[in-house]
This record gives sequence, C-alpha cells and structure tokens, in this order.
Amino acid sequence: MSLKERSKQKLSATLGRYHDCEFVSGEGCYLTTTNNQKILDFSSGLAVANTGHCHPKVVAAIQKQAATLIHPCIGNGHYEPPVTLAENIQKTIGTTPYSFFFSQSGSDANEAAIKLAKYVTKRKKLVAFTGGFHGRTLGSLSLTTSKMKYREGYEPLLPGVSFFPYPITYRCPWGKTTEVDSTKAAIDALNNSPLFNTDVAAVIIEPILGEAGYYAAPPAFLIALEGICKKYGILLIVDEVQTGFGRTGNWFAYQKSAIEPDIITVAKGIASGMPLGACIAKKDIMDQWTPGAHGGTFGANPVCCAAGIASIDIIKECLPNVTPLGKKAINQLTTGLSNHPFVGDIRGEGLMIGIEFVKNKTTKEPHPDVIGTILSNCLKQNVLVIACGLHNNVIRVIPPLIIDEATLQAGLTTLIEVINDIN
Ligand code: PLP
Repeated sequence: MSLKERSKQKLSATLGRYHDCEFVSGEGCYLTTTNNQKILDFSSGLAVANTGHCHPKVVAAIQKQAATLIHPCIGNGHYEPPVTLAENIQKTIGTTPYSFFFSQSGSDANEAAIKLAKYVTKRKKLVAFTGGFHGRTLGSLSLTTSKMKYREGYEPLLPGVSFFPYPITYRCPWGKTTEVDSTKAAIDALNNSPLFNTDVAAVIIEPILGEAGYYAAPPAFLIALEGICKKYGILLIVDEVQTGFGRTGNWFAYQKSAIEPDIITVAKGIASGMPLGACIAKKDIMDQWTPGAHGGTFGANPVCCAAGIASIDIIKECLPNVTPLGKKAINQLTTGLSNHPFVGDIRGEGLMIGIEFVKNKTTKEPHPDVIGTILSNCLKQNVLVIACGLHNNVIRVIPPLIIDEATLQAGLTTLIEVINDIN
C-alpha cells in the first residue's frame, strides 16, 4: 500500500486536503515527495513555515532543547524558553506591557481569549465579523463564519455571539465601489450599530480576513473599532494567527493601523511548525485572570518555545524584505494577469497575497470552478498553491518569508502561465 493509501486507511476522514502529495522532507522554500518531486511551497505549510522548512537555526534550537528539557510542565514551576520567548515577542509589540498565555494552536489561543474576556469583564456577549475564521474548537468555532460547513452539525454553539459585516472594499456590504466610500460606510455602520454596547465582553477581528479571501480591513476602520470598544469598555481581540510574525511586512498586521489591541492571538508562524499558540493580553487585563481559571498540560512547552525564539531571530533578519518582495510580486501578477477574463482582483500586504477569480468583472460573480485546475496544474509544475475565499475562488500566495526574489519570481511565472492557460 502506498503512503497515501495507508494514510487514508488510518487517519481520520474528516481531514480536508488541498493536495494529496506524499512528503518526505522539507528544506527552505521546498518540499520533497516520495517520488522525488521538489516542490516550491507557496503555502508555507498553511502560513506556518515563515522561516522556511527545517531552517537550520530552528532545527538546532529544537535539537538542543529536546536534549535538555522536553516537558517539566508549566504547572510544576518555571523554565527559561517561554519567558525568553515572551520577552522577545514583547519587543515586537512595543512598550505597553503584555502578558502571555502559551497554548498549542490558533484555536486554543482564541479559546483562551474568549474565556479571558468573559472572565475579566463579567459580560456574556461577543461580537465577531462575518467571514471570520478563528478556529475549530467549539468556542472559536462560534466566532467563525468563513464557511458554514464548519458549523454544520455542531449547533447550538456559544450563545450571545453576534456578527458585524467585515469591511471588504472589493465586495462592499454597503454597496459602495471605492475604498474611501466603503470605509466611510463601514465606520458609519459601526457607529450606528446596536451590537456594540456595555453587555459585550469582546470584539474579535482578523486584521486581514484570511480564510474568507485575504481582504484587509482599512486602517481607519480598525481605529474606529478600537474607539467604539473603548467607548463601551469592550475588549478588542485581534486575531493575528495567520497575519502574524512578519507575514504582512510588519510583525503584526494591526501595527499598520497603530491601534493597541487589548488581546492579540497568535499561532502558525510563531514557531515555524512546532505546535504553539499564544493569547497575549495587556498585563493589567491578564493579571485579573486568577490562578486556575484557565490552564493546560502542554502549554509553554520548552521545545516549541525554543523554536519560537529561533524563529523570531530569523524573521527579524528577513522582515525588511517582506514588503518590497510583496510589492514586486503584486506588480508581476498584475502585469501577467491584467487582461485575464476571470481575474477580478489581485491584492495583498507583504507576502500575503490573494488572487480573486470572478466569472464577470462587473457583476463579480465568484468563479470557484477554475481553482481546482490551478492548484493541480501548478503542482504538476512543482509549485504548491492553496485556495481560500468565502466562495473558494481565491488563490493565496504565501511563500516563506525567507524566499529570495529570483525564486519568488520563478514561482509566480509558473502560476501566471497556469492561470493564463485557463480562459
Ligand atoms: N485564526 C486564524 C485567523 C486562522 O487563520 C486560523 C487557522 O487557519 C486559526 C485561527 C486557527 O488556528 P489553528 O488551526 O492552529 O487552530
């Protein structure tokens, strides 16, 4: 039996897959399969391998820590790696003191954020945004609407959750056609919405809507959201699970708006593939969470945190390249695809780029039918891309942040050729 067949025999059928590759190793921007295909990974293992695959400094940090101390359990005392990691992440956030609750994934980072917000505010309600993806555990799923399939079969979920339209300029919920008008309409709607009031514990937002199609919230909207949260004493949770750790050219995407979230949730790129997440809250908020009110056996695992410390050092070096590389990528895609009948929009921040496919550029009717062909034809040419979008009609380009210009350009050339073959 092949690896693929054995895998399907023994691993849960619920696991969704973009591709069916059989991987054996990874190095830098490339993955290698059992039949020796070397594939350029434009997915970064789902926005995780920001430092590339098996970066030597990450591998060395893991090996050293694994040979020293794997799991004393945070419940038994203190050890160096999570403290150093928290101190180092604090430097990427700024001078306002934050405190860290380390977990294993984005979902449980958001789970922690929900619990912390409810606990501290003693309020019951939550507001999330339509199209948001915050995870698959029941609490984080209650805030998730990127695909209704994720919720089907699990209702009722958490009570008291309301949804406000995400400010998407390309598909403006208020019917506006320019960024300025769309942003203004979004802010007006926010200020007039009855959803925000003193019963609400927290509002959670992705600064760039990820799963739902890579739409960035306008900075002015995030500032207005922070204002309304302050007005009603609502905690602002910014979910940086996908956008964090340099992906958008800043350490965190919210930093473009100069807001100061009460709670930041992170995972994915934080530890280059080791399972680590964190709920990071302003210290005065976190300090109100009393001992035992939340916890976990594996949280703050030393090996994962060691990988996190090494990852931050690597990202620090390549961070200045991310915005220029992203701009070049968007230019190349725009030039190569501008006349394509189905390419409705090309957008992105740093190396978080989305290409949206529509059947008609005026009606913007989503065109998900082309996505499968693009994914499989790119893979045949050794480039791995994945999709997203409310209508599964967006290709995401999220290569490792360590990528060099020539490799990025070559991968994009393949992607453009594949797309241009479809018409
Ligand atoms: N939040 C965002 C914005 C995400 O993109 C994801 C995963 O894609 C999650 C939360 C959930 O993270 P995890 O899959 O690690 O639980």
